Amino acid sequence: MSDDDFIDLRSDTVTTPSEEMREAAATAEVGDDVYRDDPTVNELERRAADAVGTEAALYVPSGTMANQIAVHVHTEPGQELLLERESHIYRWELAGAAKLSGVQTRTIDAGDRCVPTPDAVREGLVDEDLHRPGTGLLSLENTHNYRGGIAVPVDRIAAAAEAARDADVPVHLDGARVFNAAVALGVDASEIVAPADSVTFCLSKGLGAPVGSILAGDEAFIEDARRVRKLFGGGMRQAGMIAAPGLHALGNVDRLAEDHASAERLAAGLDALDGVDAPAPDTNIVVAHTEDAGIPAESLYVACKDAGVGCVEFDDYATRFTTHLDVDEADVDEAVERIADVVDDLRD
Ligand SMILES: *Cc1c(COP(=O)(O)O)cnc(C)c1O
Repeated sequence: MSDDDFIDLRSDTVTTPSEEMREAAATAEVGDDVYRDDPTVNELERRAADAVGTEAALYVPSGTMANQIAVHVHTEPGQELLLERESHIYRWELAGAAKLSGVQTRTIDAGDRCVPTPDAVREGLVDEDLHRPGTGLLSLENTHNYRGGIAVPVDRIAAAAEAARDADVPVHLDGARVFNAAVALGVDASEIVAPADSVTFCLSKGLGAPVGSILAGDEAFIEDARRVRKLFGGGMRQAGMIAAPGLHALGNVDRLAEDHASAERLAAGLDALDGVDAPAPDTNIVVAHTEDAGIPAESLYVACKDAGVGCVEFDDYATRFTTHLDVDEADVDEAVERIADVVDDLRD
């Protein structure tokens, strides 16, 4: 199989930069961003802050770094970080909160739709006393990656955040795909972000930039975050070269609806296969459950790869397929056909 023929649905991070992005990188006006001399980075930070309705923003190499900087700025070593038990920060960031910021994590079970209730938040909050460290931060996630790109409604996020703020605990939103949530919910991203003190979003996922994420919040928070970015090794020099495609990526928000439509089409195609359960997604992430077909995710993943479809093992019997800028409807239909053959071969 030629590389061209491979339909890569592993993640929306696999997109390659468009001609416009390459051109923008080549011609970007640059300077030393550690001295804050890079006009392209400065413009990106301004436009990114506008896009989520915050005072300020900081350009960082990755979503993971944005989240870890937020944890570091909001907390003191020895405090607790309260977050959902399937959240990215808890599951997939190498225990960074413990290693980089010395905080202990406490998890909330927010159910399959990942809607943390105010009561669950209140139960999870810990007051500082002789025996207990106190909660330093509540972190929420929207869209929720592991739950299959769920777009958590604005009022639910706001209610959970309010429970924390009532206890003087700040709130971070891991909005790696916050624009997918905004498009799916039909609201402006700033509405989703408003209840939080800080937000992470990725330029390098559905928005299609080759690299980079944003951490946004008020000016005082971003000033602290800039120091922590340096501490974590994320201070960059002529970063306008990579920030310029990020500016183009901000123009890709509205078209995320196309990825959601392809994902719905993909889920419907997979769900129609015998023994496969693929619920209709809110956004661009489809999770296919293959327990009834007796197909472990590991086998499905390997066979799909051989058949020319990239996916990600999520759990024993759950496999993730993600749509993005570089796949169209025809690719999705072709992927469903290939996966159908694979499932037929593997079924008990
Ligand atoms: C991808 C992702 C991140 C991390 O972003 P990277 O740029 O891959 O480090 C954080 N949170 C969520 C919810 C994500 O999906």
